[in-house]
Amino acid sequence: MLLYFVVLSLDTMKIVVVVGGVISGVGKGIATAAIGKILQQYGFSTTAVKIDPYINYDAGTLRPTEHGEVWVTDDGGEIDQDLGNYERFLGFDIPKRNNMTTGQIYKELIDRERRGEFLGQTVEVIPEVPNEIKRRIREASEIKDAEGRLTGQYDFVLVEVGGTIGDYQNMPYLFATKSLEIEMGWENVAHILVTYLPVPDNIGEMKTKPTQQAIKMLNETGIFPDFVLCRANKPLDDVRKQKIQQNANVDADHIISAPDIKTIYRVPLNFEAENLGQKILKRMKVQPKKIPDWTNWKSLAERIENPGTTIKVAMVGKYIDIGSFSLTDSYISVNEALKHAGANNGAGIEIEWIDSKQFERDPGTLNKLKNYHGIIVPGGFGGSGVEGKIKAIEFARLNNVPFLGLCYGLQLAVVEYARNVCNLADAHTTEINKSTMHPVIDIIPTQKEILEKGQYGGTMRLGAYSAILKDGTNVLDLYKRAGRMNRDKAKIETLRENEAFRLGVLDGSNVILERHRHRYEVNPKFIDILERSGFVFSGFHHRLDGTKLMEFGELPKHKFFVGTQAHPEFKSRLEDPSPLFFGFVEACLKTALNT
Ligand code: GLN
Repeated sequence: MLLYFVVLSLDTMKIVVVVGGVISGVGKGIATAAIGKILQQYGFSTTAVKIDPYINYDAGTLRPTEHGEVWVTDDGGEIDQDLGNYERFLGFDIPKRNNMTTGQIYKELIDRERRGEFLGQTVEVIPEVPNEIKRRIREASEIKDAEGRLTGQYDFVLVEVGGTIGDYQNMPYLFATKSLEIEMGWENVAHILVTYLPVPDNIGEMKTKPTQQAIKMLNETGIFPDFVLCRANKPLDDVRKQKIQQNANVDADHIISAPDIKTIYRVPLNFEAENLGQKILKRMKVQPKKIPDWTNWKSLAERIENPGTTIKVAMVGKYIDIGSFSLTDSYISVNEALKHAGANNGAGIEIEWIDSKQFERDPGTLNKLKNYHGIIVPGGFGGSGVEGKIKAIEFARLNNVPFLGLCYGLQLAVVEYARNVCNLADAHTTEINKSTMHPVIDIIPTQKEILEKGQYGGTMRLGAYSAILKDGTNVLDLYKRAGRMNRDKAKIETLRENEAFRLGVLDGSNVILERHRHRYEVNPKFIDILERSGFVFSGFHHRLDGTKLMEFGELPKHKFFVGTQAHPEFKSRLEDPSPLFFGFVEACLKTALNT
């Protein structure tokens, strides 16, 4: 009885469910993120949940070629890249529980059954599966304090159901959201269908039939979409809106045009041009809490669309086997972080993907790197193309070309410096060479032990960790300029006590948080020799047992040479770019403008 009361009294939230029709890949994730941004602009606290109907427990073990990038959350989740879009638009850190997979639902139910919690009853798909889905959606709406106590609820929870209407896999989820509509009341749950309108070459006219059919297919599940967002390569005209209304009984006023555009950051602005925000609020019977102010967002989107000077960035990595996913999908966060930094610097960004193996086959090709204003070595695993990456880093160092090393990029910059400046000829990471005399990058045994004992049961360092930045460094300056110090301090206050191992010792005021996904670390035994030769470690994580893990490295005399053990791209947002990407683009722009 008490539990029943608690659930009811908490349900003040509204749920907006986003589903896709016609084909996959129409941009449901961006549409969801954009709707969230709009609701925030009207003054509502908003969070988002991504449902992936596959059996995998999470995306951690999925090949990037299979699924695009793996997104890492603050709390150490390895999940679907759509959560990245939510964070980039909504501007706050979304926890891993906001990604739900069919595997998780079934595992939870089977675990509960094994523990005897069903008291011998037969555990049926209906109602247990939809109940577990609904429980998770409700859980995502909860706002908790540092001790894990419930303090409030988001005004809106957006729920994006992966897959396409008609797929067998997403049926239980639609069943669950329909059920929420009944339980919570029609005005508290809305369904939005994102479809695609083809323009066949031979006809040259936009066709609405597949959209009509998708609406009808959704109707079969008992769901009548409140809005239809029509993706197409050009805007939808009134004739077609009327046609959809006539044939599928959706109010033409609720049929929203979503044409292809130059930048995803234009999407909320386009939706607002059709008053989508106010229409959703009206449908859900709520008054706006504030008048939207899109000034900053709009000017940044315009700067992406019409940049001043464009800088050319060489992204050096191993790019074979990308499969059906394009490079942009596999490195989506790095791309977006560059765009954010570009927009805030007033620079356009042109990325070229360079396969590092060519530098191994033919060192002469290294000279190509002269044509770029900056070089990035992004994260990576394994031996393929490593020597080529090291050569590219050496090129950046010797030719004063701005360089940013992300995770593996930092590790290989350390290897390069150890070999070529400290004269440790065979220096390497033990990921590649287990028997090197100079393992400058290595698995620190106590670190491995800690991670194994930790909550994830693996050996990967995952999620947000604190770093203390060193006075007088470029890295500290960049984080200060971005105002990250205070914000991250506030965030640290809200982290639970049991996260202490990821916060470590928080001495001094120069503490920041960045996300991680790696096994290897700079070997503490080599820090002295590297630093004596001019390599500066500008930030470290101070573990509770006293060990220091190097988080940032830089070369002070260089135009811009910075590497980080973290993945700062995961915390970059359009209106709040990552400090390191900002600094990198700023340096590239100076080179481009010859200043
Ligand atoms: N392979 C390296 C490690 O595991 C770097 C990982 C990464 O770049 N994300 O430490």
